[in-house]
Amino acid sequence: METMKEYIEDAEKALLHTYNRYQVVLDKGEGVYLYDIEGKKYLDFCAGIAVFALGYHNQKYNDALKAQIDKLIHTSNYYYNVPAIEAAKKLKKISGMDRVFFTNSGAEAVEGAIKAARKYAYLKDGCTDHEIIAMEHSFHGRTYGALSVTGNPKYREAFEPMIGNIRFAQMNDFESVVSQVTDKTCAILFETVQGEGGIYPAQEAFMKRIRALCDEKDILLILDEIQCGMGRTGYMYAWQKYSVKPDIMTTAKALGCGVPVGAFLMTEKVGMHSLTSGDHGTTYGGNPLAAEAVNIVLDLFEENHIIDNVKEVGAYLEKELDALVEEYDCVETRRGAGLMQGLVLNRPVGTIITSALDKGLILINAGTNVIRFVPPLIIGKEHVDEMMTILRACLKEEME
Ligand SMILES: *Cc1c(COP(=O)(O)O)cnc(C)c1O
Repeated sequence: METMKEYIEDAEKALLHTYNRYQVVLDKGEGVYLYDIEGKKYLDFCAGIAVFALGYHNQKYNDALKAQIDKLIHTSNYYYNVPAIEAAKKLKKISGMDRVFFTNSGAEAVEGAIKAARKYAYLKDGCTDHEIIAMEHSFHGRTYGALSVTGNPKYREAFEPMIGNIRFAQMNDFESVVSQVTDKTCAILFETVQGEGGIYPAQEAFMKRIRALCDEKDILLILDEIQCGMGRTGYMYAWQKYSVKPDIMTTAKALGCGVPVGAFLMTEKVGMHSLTSGDHGTTYGGNPLAAEAVNIVLDLFEENHIIDNVKEVGAYLEKELDALVEEYDCVETRRGAGLMQGLVLNRPVGTIITSALDKGLILINAGTNVIRFVPPLIIGKEHVDEMMTILRACLKEEME
């Protein structure tokens, strides 16, 4: 077998260099731990970027997927399949939305949401110059539609022109949103908790005022729950905490716990007055294997009381991280909800994350100065303690 170093050399010759990867080749997982190909063990507070909610090597999850592989993997959307029907019914139940379209990724769910909003507005007035308001520091994905509403000019610059008629406002600043509204506005789009942009939760008053504004002007509210959804904040979807229901929402990441699947969902009102036969499609989206992943994930969320665990361990993680603000001069504040937390430092966090990796802890950043904590949702307090011991050692090193 090749050594880790040799594999990494091979990788750098074969894979397109779009990532500065950490110098680790991961091999297998068990619960909340990952192992590299040389057998080194890591406590995982990244979960494949908020994906692997149920932890690794969950036997029921694996068995359900294996059974589906033996039965039927793909059919195309020209035909019905039972796993997709069951998964759509379950998604409706947990979200309170009415119509589901399965996609293969988060970005693709965002694309669908944008198309649905534009079609809804088009059906009202026959015009094609409608505008969407998105937020600064947002992240919605790398495809053209999703990139066009991503509030990070660095990601967009080389790839201009974007899709047109997008305006940007400030998250949690209602007046800045109002200042971008015109009679062409068809949708307001944001993440209920901004993830990549630095873990900024939407404030309740902001959510409520945006909802009222949308109702008044028949603007669609689109909430991107790709990262903050699926129980991560202690609610199945983060907006459920505020009782502010979107007209369209997106979900992905933990939805399939590693099998690539996403969805955009809408209310009946939007469903009846937007995308219709021939307007949108996907070859793979909601195929039996991906849909069965959604089914087993949602079943196991219930069986394992995932939401209760997030509430309990999330509160504990908050308390522990808050203590660091007092202890270390370089730690400015903590932001987040449940098991989606950001520790804000007064400096870039890259060296701390690399040092944590050396010490057997997987962390990621969210922007330059924020350490992001998005562990599997099955972690216990003992794992928080284990993480804190390593993190303290890294912070101490950083301050020396
Ligand atoms: C990850 C993410 C996306 C993009 O999802 P992909 O599956 O990578 O395309 C979109 N929105 C948010 C909020 C995300 O965190």
